[in-house]
Amino acid sequence: MTIHEASRLLKAKQLSSVELTKACLERIRQAESRVHALVTTTDDLALEQARRADKLITAGDTTPLTGIPIVIKDNMCTKGIRTTCSSRMLENFVPPYDATVVEKINAHNMVTVGKANMDEFAMGSSTENSALFVTCNPWDLSRVPGGSSGGSAVAVAAGESVCALGSDTGGSIRQPAGFCSVTGLKPTYGRVSRYGLVAFASSLDQIGPLTRDVTDCALVLNAIAGYDSRDSTSVPYPTPDYTQCLTTDLSGLRIGVPKEYFVEGMQPEVETAIRTAINNLESLGARIEWEVSLPHTAYALAAYYIIAPSEAMANLARYDGVKYGFSAQEADSMWEALEKTRQYGFGPEVKRRIMLGTYALSAGYYDAYYLKAQKVRTLIRQEFDQAFEKFDALVTPTSPTVPFKIGEKVDDPLQMYLSDVCTLPINIAGLPAISIPAGFADGLPIGMQIIGKPFSEETILKIAYAFQQATEWHKKRPEIK
Ligand code: GLN
Repeated sequence: MTIHEASRLLKAKQLSSVELTKACLERIRQAESRVHALVTTTDDLALEQARRADKLITAGDTTPLTGIPIVIKDNMCTKGIRTTCSSRMLENFVPPYDATVVEKINAHNMVTVGKANMDEFAMGSSTENSALFVTCNPWDLSRVPGGSSGGSAVAVAAGESVCALGSDTGGSIRQPAGFCSVTGLKPTYGRVSRYGLVAFASSLDQIGPLTRDVTDCALVLNAIAGYDSRDSTSVPYPTPDYTQCLTTDLSGLRIGVPKEYFVEGMQPEVETAIRTAINNLESLGARIEWEVSLPHTAYALAAYYIIAPSEAMANLARYDGVKYGFSAQEADSMWEALEKTRQYGFGPEVKRRIMLGTYALSAGYYDAYYLKAQKVRTLIRQEFDQAFEKFDALVTPTSPTVPFKIGEKVDDPLQMYLSDVCTLPINIAGLPAISIPAGFADGLPIGMQIIGKPFSEETILKIAYAFQQATEWHKKRPEIK
């Protein structure tokens, strides 16, 4: 069920939040041994929240999200609930406070059913970098769900939850949404508060919804968007009602198709599906320009893998075994304790990022790498600004391939990094983008990405909504075998 379907039944008293929550918890019990999406399930809390929601519904005190089950990626702080970041470093960390987004969904009396597995500290594209366990794609259990919000996407795709929250630094909401055939939105940088989100790369990170359709995505965005004085990069713009823009007439909208996103090595079935989907948008009234060029796209990946590790290296310096998280006890000196803490606490990908970032920021290399990457970042942003003078949105594939096999890319970090080639530039420029289901190749999902100008979430939601009204892809559900 979608949020809007469930909400209608809840209001009409044809369903209670307790029943809906129990159905999710039952589904978790059935599916979890195969998909492994959740690090923690919060049955008792969920049932308590559901009972409270039912009382509020009876009293008529509701929003469209009241009593709806949600799963939260395990890098968002939940007061009293373990928040691991899928890292041994935080395996037993129980935050003393809620992230702003968690406060906000609680204020709507949503029901938290669990915390989702992820790549450790959100570094990865397959959820295989989780230090806890590997999550499987419900469409084919031998394949990855994408990452780093793999657990969140799987929880929604497998019916364990009605919706989920993920975070996206370079594609981590959109790429798993594409791989699992759900709808995933990365809002404009600054649209949603990052307070209480465990920091990976602070100038790129953004929280967003993973849902069954675009209406649900708008509903969750309504709840989580907005200024927060506790996040100095959140932007004090008014938050519209994002469901108001959902109409099916795209006439007058100008959509560009940047040719650089149809990269070499792209799977032909993906290209065909996306071109067919764009034809669909054209038939809905949008004006398509098929040959837009964004030549700096080619440098986004290189710039990202300097900027993100540099910020990560600074952000992860706080894990010293003293303030919180894992602490190696047996050591003769402070330095030895620090070294042992990090040696055990961080997995190989996190260590690789720390080393890359430390190198890129070191004296003598700073100008050559970090400063250069920041200049490239400006060029990419300017190139998008120019494109948006002509277009209301850009459309691309979400990933160049369908979900790959578990284990296929773990030993080749560069290949893994390439799976985000279509999503990274959007974070570099701070733009909003949504991934929606757009087809299948041999039963494996294909996602289409719609990119908008800063704070034009309404435009991309509208395009995505019109597409979903005209197609059935988002309604397909996996048979978990
Ligand atoms: N896959 C990219 C990385 O490994 C992006 C991850 C993300 O968006 N959190 O950094």
